[in-house]
Amino acid sequence: MTKARKNEPLAKFTTFRIGGPAELFLMPETVEELADFCGKYPEGFILGGGSNVLVSDEGAPVVIFLKKLKNFSVAAPENGSSAVTAGSGYSFTALSRKMCGMGLSGLEFAYGIPGTVGGAVVMNAGASGGEVKDVLEKATLLVDGKVRDFSGRELGLSYRKSELPKGAVIVSATFNLQQGDEKEIERRMKENLEKRKQTQPLDIPSAGSVFRNPPGDFAGRIIESLGFKGRCVGGAQVSEKHANFIVNQGWATAAQVFQLIKMIEETVKSGTGITLEREIKLVGNF
Ligand SMILES: Cc1cc2nc3c(=O)[nH]c(=O)nc-3n(C[C@H](O)[C@H](O)[C@H](O)COP(=O)(O)OP(=O)(O)OC[C@H]3O[C@@H](n4cnc5c(N)ncnc54)[C@H](O)[C@@H]3O)c2cc1C
Repeated sequence: MTKARKNEPLAKFTTFRIGGPAELFLMPETVEELADFCGKYPEGFILGGGSNVLVSDEGAPVVIFLKKLKNFSVAAPENGSSAVTAGSGYSFTALSRKMCGMGLSGLEFAYGIPGTVGGAVVMNAGASGGEVKDVLEKATLLVDGKVRDFSGRELGLSYRKSELPKGAVIVSATFNLQQGDEKEIERRMKENLEKRKQTQPLDIPSAGSVFRNPPGDFAGRIIESLGFKGRCVGGAQVSEKHANFIVNQGWATAAQVFQLIKMIEETVKSGTGITLEREIKLVGNF
């Protein structure tokens, strides 16, 4: 597989299964290649698992895809805890599963969250009362061509947000995990996944929650209260199961999803006075 492709369709790299082509699609396999690509194309869009993005129908000029940065290591345990390092392209759910097999506790919440370790750090991904911030010891970033370690505090991690230096790329992340009982870890993971299956439309393409929850409330509750559940624009539909999810019924375009997003934002603003903040990231022109 070559490390650079032209006119690569992006839909297959997103959980929405939507999006036009990348004029240039780059797949670094080492940090040196990543630094080289980032130096040449500083405006390139960094793509992890594509589980929190809406890519425009026209696509994007340059995309740097990190799924191949998948190194993994564990430091010798100290006082019952272990520092586990995974490359930014490592699947977050696969890491959670692996930690269970090694009897290490702390990433049970990650089980079932789609996407990569890098994306999880950038989004401070979380579920079932846990989030990246709680277990991140440090992340290694590429900033201005140089590799440097940052603590969670320095990354400004907060609810589904981070404040990375401009143009920075996460190369790997180190989690501080505690030794625990494998059976108990597995039980918690299964419980988390079960809750997810009951509340989220997992059998149909989406990008997870579209909006961040406003303080003291839930975006899904507000959207549902305004009668949006099941509302469609073309192939894009507000999920019947969870009103903060927009699903692709199979033929949705990015323009249709975007139109639905705008409709929700405007109706919520005029109906409640609340300005919803988007959690998903738009890629390309809208
Ligand atoms: C069905 C479903 C359920 C979901 N449930 C949850 C949930 O319970 N909790 C939750 O928090 N999220 C959830 N999400 C959202 C999503 O899975 C998370 O936000 C995830 O952490 C995104 O990771 P990713 O690798 O897919 O990132 P992408 O979607 O590829 O990218 C997201 C953003 O991060 C940037 N980025 C990605 N990797 C890097 C990197 N290495 N360096 C710098 N920038 C980078 C991208 O440029 C983009 O701005 C869900 C999504 C789906 C589809």
